[in-house]
Amino acid sequence: MPLSKCCSFLIKSTFCFKDRGRSEEESAMKQLFCRLLLGLLPLTLWGQASNPVWFKAPLAPRLANYEIEAYVTPEEHTLKGSLKLTWKNAGTQATTKMPLHLYLNAFKGPNSIFMREGGGSLRGDRMGDENDQSSWGYCRIESIRLEGRSLQGSYGEDESVYWVNLTRAVSPGETVTLEIEWVSQFPRVFARTGWSDGFLMAAQWFPKVGVYQGSQWTCDAHHANTEFFSDFGTYAVNVNVPRGFWLAHSGEAITYIDPADGLKKDAWPDPLDDKRMIYKLYAEDIHDFAFAMKSNLDWKRRDFTYRGVRVSLFYEPSHHLMIDRHVAAIETSLRLAEEWYFKYPYPVLTVVDPPANASGADGMEYPTLIMAGTSAFDPFNFRIPEVVTVHEFGHQYFYGMLASDEVNEPWLDEGFTSYFESKVMQRHYSGLLNSRRFQLPGNFSSLMSYLMTPNSDPLTRKGYESATYGNTAYTKPDMVLQQLEARLGHQTMSQVMMTYTREMAFKHPTHLDFKRIAERISGRNLDSFWSDYVMGTGILDYQIEEVSVLNTQEGGWDINQKLEAEFEPITTLMPQGRIKLQRRGEIVSPITLWVRLSTGEERKVRWDGKDRWVHFDFPAPIVQAQLDPDFEYPILNNRLYASWSPKAPTRGIAYWAHMVMSFLTYSLQGIGLL
Ligand SMILES: [Zn+2]
Repeated sequence: MPLSKCCSFLIKSTFCFKDRGRSEEESAMKQLFCRLLLGLLPLTLWGQASNPVWFKAPLAPRLANYEIEAYVTPEEHTLKGSLKLTWKNAGTQATTKMPLHLYLNAFKGPNSIFMREGGGSLRGDRMGDENDQSSWGYCRIESIRLEGRSLQGSYGEDESVYWVNLTRAVSPGETVTLEIEWVSQFPRVFARTGWSDGFLMAAQWFPKVGVYQGSQWTCDAHHANTEFFSDFGTYAVNVNVPRGFWLAHSGEAITYIDPADGLKKDAWPDPLDDKRMIYKLYAEDIHDFAFAMKSNLDWKRRDFTYRGVRVSLFYEPSHHLMIDRHVAAIETSLRLAEEWYFKYPYPVLTVVDPPANASGADGMEYPTLIMAGTSAFDPFNFRIPEVVTVHEFGHQYFYGMLASDEVNEPWLDEGFTSYFESKVMQRHYSGLLNSRRFQLPGNFSSLMSYLMTPNSDPLTRKGYESATYGNTAYTKPDMVLQQLEARLGHQTMSQVMMTYTREMAFKHPTHLDFKRIAERISGRNLDSFWSDYVMGTGILDYQIEEVSVLNTQEGGWDINQKLEAEFEPITTLMPQGRIKLQRRGEIVSPITLWVRLSTGEERKVRWDGKDRWVHFDFPAPIVQAQLDPDFEYPILNNRLYASWSPKAPTRGIAYWAHMVMSFLTYSLQGIGLL
């Protein structure tokens, strides 16, 4: 931070230290804050700590800017912090209140909304021993000040939201600076954040302002399923940790040139404690900040630059055989996102492959920081490590730069990211099941998940209200976007995605922004598509109900003869084919039927799809039939019932041998990687 700002903060912190009537613990913490700041002063005076400038002009409206001092005590799983939040009212009305997210209070006890909703489980992970205090966490506000005045507040829906009374109205366009001191106690790692042995994932670790739009604040409690929503800004974050720890973090480390050897170091010495050091971190135009830390004796790191982005990958020594795969997945993601959307604009990207006993932290995204994951057991070669890395990178766009409201419209980040992930995996990777022999769709897992709950909640349902969150936020939107692509055509859909990402980057898009852009680019009215697939719960479900042979011309009389006595009975057998189709779902769409007749002739007919059932007759028996032969509807429910042949195709020995041998091979490979 600039020297002038540092000094004013220092003076105010020293003033705070003089407050009377505080507990011994609070006073000790004040001393710690002031000591930390005093310790930083000489570094600033040396002139080596000036923040880099990432962008000549801001990419985003910088409404929530943080200068943070954090002091981490790993053995106690605590972080003591002070921050300056410089916030601009970009709304249309003045506000006298400001809500802060205190996310860690979701782990304070069993009565938080998060714990009541999730019951201590999330994403297949379970919280630590509930009877062990160190399994729980909290975020405790010590003080909040505005313009020298101490502010008070009250909790919101639960203690994960704290409403601050500002003591005066902050007008539209006005900027104010709050000074906040707090203590974070991390839970045993679970639901993205916390500690595990020597590893700490510091996520959702500081008081964070909600989003003010128009005359309304959005600052939802921390719910079990849903994630986050924040404004963009700059972050200058100093993290004081014991020597020997590496930090994998959002943003860029301001390097220190060690006078002893002239080498650049990521961390600065703590001038008041030679057992500690300070990471001075900086970022622009992001809306959250997280870091992971672990002893550098037990952590590996690989740095490389790809397409101008400096990538740092932190991983377990035992995961070294997987690292080339992570690197390739990162490079592929950077390249394809640039081709499809726009170039990743930040100068840095950090990737963490967390330890196995910290799986609660993996598979998560933060601006310029992604938490990957290693899964050695992958018998169908779904390429799980690549899927996770590609997915989390995709969030750099759909969440990171297109900062939609993850609580109230989770499909805009998870669904679009799942679509990106499917596209990357189909384009670049081949697994066992989508190989040439087995030919299942590349997004097989999305498809299967969707087919199991096709009529799940509307995509626009709030995340914490949805009973089908996984499907509504992830797999259904992936299928809906695949369906939109089939409707618009690949080229048009590519233009839609590129335009949407470019126009809505560094904003807070809603589904209406996406619809507006899709309609403009395609020149089509998408009202019915939106009501069917985005806002609706219906499914597209057509099936072949019955195929039969009609022998109606067998028997009867030929009455074309002049004399009745000459009438001849008809004995010629002229069988016809008949097929009965059924609409089982609520969504009505015209659909094509393809048939092959016993004569070898192939025919296509188009059904408007409106009635519940219909039959079509053909001049010869049907030997094969397929609904939607041109794959107009990737979202068609249960495609098995959309095709018919007199007997099921048989799989030869080679088919099953390939499946079994591959399964064994990939299983053994997993054992070798463990
Ligand atoms: Zn995701």
